[in-house]
Amino acid sequence: MGKALIIGCGGVASVAIHKCCQNSDIFEEICIASRTKSKCDELKAKLDGGKTKITTARVDANNLGELITLIEEVKPDIVMNLALPYQDLTIMDACLATKTNYLDTANYEPEDTAKFEYKWQWEYRERFEKAGITALLGSGFDPGVTGVFSAFALKHHFDEIEYVDILDCNAGDHGYPFATNFNPEINIREVSANGRYWENGEWIETKPMEIKRVYDFPEIGEKDMYLLYHEELESLVQNIPGLKRIRFFMTFGQSYLTHLKCLENVGMTSIEPIEFDGKQIIPLQFLKAVLPDPASLGPRTKGKTNIGCIFKGKKDGQDKTYYIYNVCDHEECYREVGSQAVSYTTGVPAMIGAAMILTEKWNRPGVYNIEEFDPDPFMEALNKWGLPWNEDFNPVLVDSETVKLIEPEKDGKYEN
Ligand code: NDP
Repeated sequence: MGKALIIGCGGVASVAIHKCCQNSDIFEEICIASRTKSKCDELKAKLDGGKTKITTARVDANNLGELITLIEEVKPDIVMNLALPYQDLTIMDACLATKTNYLDTANYEPEDTAKFEYKWQWEYRERFEKAGITALLGSGFDPGVTGVFSAFALKHHFDEIEYVDILDCNAGDHGYPFATNFNPEINIREVSANGRYWENGEWIETKPMEIKRVYDFPEIGEKDMYLLYHEELESLVQNIPGLKRIRFFMTFGQSYLTHLKCLENVGMTSIEPIEFDGKQIIPLQFLKAVLPDPASLGPRTKGKTNIGCIFKGKKDGQDKTYYIYNVCDHEECYREVGSQAVSYTTGVPAMIGAAMILTEKWNRPGVYNIEEFDPDPFMEALNKWGLPWNEDFNPVLVDSETVKLIEPEKDGKYEN
């Protein structure tokens, strides 16, 4: 049915590529292109022999000319950008130049400042519309499935959604004192930034990790979770009419936070370049180089993830609550595709999003966040392709009296 050019060959891309090969009726042909071609060739060697035809290429996705040449050579129906957020705009430019559909899993980030904003990509709306091509932004889990869950809740369960809490729990244990489950640079930027949530028409900023709760996650149990800003909040605020508040919480273990605090205190998480041995280096990029490669965590990680949304609103004039979530087992993911659940929960929706476009279920020219499309075919595909969802119509709410607050740390410092 179609051909995809997949850019990047890291943790997320590897899962998406496995899944495209499983879904060979839709993905007849894929080209895997990344900065390090040997990684693409290794994956191709593992997956060759199935129905999906695989080719590989080397590309620097920061280089517009190289991208255009590659797209013109491969002639894909869609470019799946599974590299890093820094490459989003060059890849979108190349898609415009070649009139090719586009998909990503993370908003564009300038290299020098962590922003988590869609504004740069939203500026492409008119140009994509005029070119007659679709850009699907944020087709991972969060952003991604959380937006699809929101559209599904609005379509089938509510007349009006007033409150949304997105809860992202990773109860995986990889046995290292400190490692990040996906690209460390992106992960640490996200966690060390100020928290922010939206209430009654305005953004409210918190200090990093200031708002904390202990939530009893289905199939996992009690975990400490912290309010963070997360990019899907920006688009969901615009796409859920009548919304009063939306927040995002993520779980972190004490060991992770203690290490992070220490790294922060010594300046290792900074993205300001420093001079070292006559060279300019960015401390966070250096830190990435010494931390375990997220891809290497797969075989070591045990436990589950649980990511979902709790909605509160009105249906037929009555108050209603609704919790929808997916539980994913790290070891099962590893057995299936050789990656842990964090890459799996992102790579599967990336494949599904591309399938929505290739099958023309979701092909509206322009630039869209995922909740702007009909959620039903995507929800069906989640059950089919390894991320089944569960519903609870009487969930414990984050602010309920039974949910414990975590004691504030002494003097603003984490204890060890
Ligand atoms: P990895 O670091 O594992 O992989 C990134 C890949 O991109 C590597 O193969 C890397 O190549 C390649 N790459 C980097 N720069 C370039 C370049 N200039 N040109 C070509 N290729 C390049 O990251 P992940 O797989 O963990 O994450 C991929 C994306 O998914 C990120 O944008 C991340 O933010 C997003 N994500 C989204 C989530 C969601 O739920 N929405 C959750 C988790 C991640 P090389 O091998 O040479 O380094």
